[in-house]
Amino acid sequence: MKIKDNLNISGELLMKSGSPDSRLEAEILLRHVLKIDRATMFSNLENVLDNKQENDIAELVQRRLANEPLSYITGTREFYSLDFQITSDVLIPRQETETLVDEVIKISKENPLKIVDVGTGSGAIAIALAVNLPLAKIIATDISVDALHVAESNTKMNDVFSRINFKQGNLLDVLDEKVDVIVSNPPYIPSNQIEHLQPEVKKEPHIALDGGSDGLEYIRQLIGNCSENLNDNGHIFIEIDPSQSEEVLEIADTHFPDAITAIIKDLSQDNRVLSIHLT
Ligand code: GLN
Repeated sequence: MKIKDNLNISGELLMKSGSPDSRLEAEILLRHVLKIDRATMFSNLENVLDNKQENDIAELVQRRLANEPLSYITGTREFYSLDFQITSDVLIPRQETETLVDEVIKISKENPLKIVDVGTGSGAIAIALAVNLPLAKIIATDISVDALHVAESNTKMNDVFSRINFKQGNLLDVLDEKVDVIVSNPPYIPSNQIEHLQPEVKKEPHIALDGGSDGLEYIRQLIGNCSENLNDNGHIFIEIDPSQSEEVLEIADTHFPDAITAIIKDLSQDNRVLSIHLT
């Protein structure tokens, strides 16, 4: 079968199953098997696939039809213009999380800071910060050993292996020094909503999504426990669901009545980041 026919068939199967980007997904799966870039694919549309290639592509299309996220199938994802290895042990980095990175970079430009990324998962936030803030000292924690393995291999892929100090444990429990910035994309989906998530999202680690009965369990713990780990003038940046804005501002005000607090919007203009600046 020719490449162009294969793309049409896969694209149609994916479209029928409801994928909004069916053609693009068909291309990505085919290119993943053939290990070719987009330009090469387009200049070889008349080339004929061998049997093994056809079978391999069909197998990946079936996995996608069974709602496996594209990033788990290809094992990669771009975040903050960097490439990351992704496995089903880690949450797939989302574009909206780039807002967290932007905010930390904004306050870190002038002076080198000590930063901790709490619940680092794939390492996306910590690594994007390490690449963009060459003088910052960066620590990253996660309770999942498997996630930390993925994060460590991502530091190698992005040439920042020596820049990040990984620690395994819950939230800030393993932090034995004070930092200037706490940044985190914690689990924040209420437990009873997990079963209603999109089928793809349900394939991601629930430990990275489930934020307890009201979704705020880890955010409460993090804000409640962070004062002893923060230097004077320290900053906290936590990703939230837009619906949680008022509740997280209340939690912040209860623990840090004198701090400057704000909710920052992501690129889609959704409330996405709780910012607390100690004064
Ligand atoms: N933003 C993610 C989602 O809605 C959730 C990430 C998280 O819980 N930290 O799928």
